[in-house]
Amino acid sequence: MSNYKTGLDYAKEQDEKDPLALYRNKFHIPKDNNGNELIYLCGNSLGLQPKSTKDYINQELLDWANLGVEGHLEAKNPWLPYHEFLAKSTAKLVGAKPIEVVTMNTLTTNLHLMMVSFYQPTPERYKILIESDAFPSDKYAVESQLRHHGFDDKEGLILWKPRQGEELLRYEDLEQILENQGDEIALIMIGGVNYYTGQYFDLKRITQLGHKHGCMVGFDCAHGAGNVQLNLHDSGADFAVWCTYKYLNSGPGSLSGCFVHERHAHNKDLNRFTGWWSHNKQTRFNMRHEFDVLPGAEGWQLSNPPILSMAAIKASLDMFNEVGIEKLTEKSKKLTGYFEFLLKQLGEDMIRIITPENPNERGCQLSIQVKSANKALHNKLTEAGVISDWREPDVIRCSPVPLYNSFEDVFRMVEKLKEIVN
Ligand SMILES: *Cc1c(COP(=O)(O)O)cnc(C)c1O
Repeated sequence: MSNYKTGLDYAKEQDEKDPLALYRNKFHIPKDNNGNELIYLCGNSLGLQPKSTKDYINQELLDWANLGVEGHLEAKNPWLPYHEFLAKSTAKLVGAKPIEVVTMNTLTTNLHLMMVSFYQPTPERYKILIESDAFPSDKYAVESQLRHHGFDDKEGLILWKPRQGEELLRYEDLEQILENQGDEIALIMIGGVNYYTGQYFDLKRITQLGHKHGCMVGFDCAHGAGNVQLNLHDSGADFAVWCTYKYLNSGPGSLSGCFVHERHAHNKDLNRFTGWWSHNKQTRFNMRHEFDVLPGAEGWQLSNPPILSMAAIKASLDMFNEVGIEKLTEKSKKLTGYFEFLLKQLGEDMIRIITPENPNERGCQLSIQVKSANKALHNKLTEAGVISDWREPDVIRCSPVPLYNSFEDVFRMVEKLKEIVN
């Protein structure tokens, strides 16, 4: 991995050799006012639109126009079981069994639904542990769950923090927290890949640790799904949630994926919020029937889902299914390693990368601190045609996405950065 070279020739050579290079052409790449393609490194925030998405959505519009309500059964892809068409490829993508996954609602909603079932506090064991730099929505969600159950949202929240002067989290520190307070913690809820640092946690290690201390363990994989190999089933986690508009390219505000471990699939005693879509499919339309929950993750659905968004997810998943997450992560490691190599050429006194160096402890994102940078630097990058993402106080997040970013994108980005900092 370490025989990277500087120079545009090398980048072009890598693109020519890249077996996934043809996928770039399957996406709409945003352009500037002169019609030049932007260097889009923001797939961690909103993934680009596959050219096929329009056809998938048009199919549903057409069936709706021609069939009306009959489309539930008669559409080319009948709407009634539409979510089932997504289960196999979703399961493959996140390393789960089809019964363990479902596409429904939006991310924060699903996080709450999972906590209704897996955050069952008692007067002795009621605390929730999260990482100190958790995504704001996740923090607000767990705080509101604490309040909902009558607990203080400060006293009840335990933060896994980086050490003084560090950004990354250490497992020894998590072990220490659990040694000291494990029997007060009801739930551990961690971002599988931290949105800020890009640190990809060892989900299995955290789960085993949590379970050893009697805690439930869940992950928010918004920055993991479509980015890293998650192996959710093997991790043993009780639940996981993720959105599909970041690395999964399904469009702004699109639906969320949800994983519930097989060991909970047939537990009808679990507390949960329900609706007609969590009810037995055979008797759902008898209405008035006594509630009979579906087994597996499907049993957490509430409503009939928005088919137009589901169609966009299907377009994306069909592509992921074709490529496979193994090939994607293989390219991802090369591309991000190359990005890291080029950034390091700028000098360690100028650039600091806070994302882990070990390719197995990160996805494609690098979080970059530029010496004495402020938002003006990020604005200049944007003006130069690089779409990246700024996080206060001083971090630029860039994600070369293996499906549509090229080695040349990465090369050009670093050239622009070099011009700006000099
Ligand atoms: C993107 C993201 C969210 C956003 O939540 P929505 O409910 O989809 O608006 C929440 N949590 C994490 C960790 C995220 O990365």
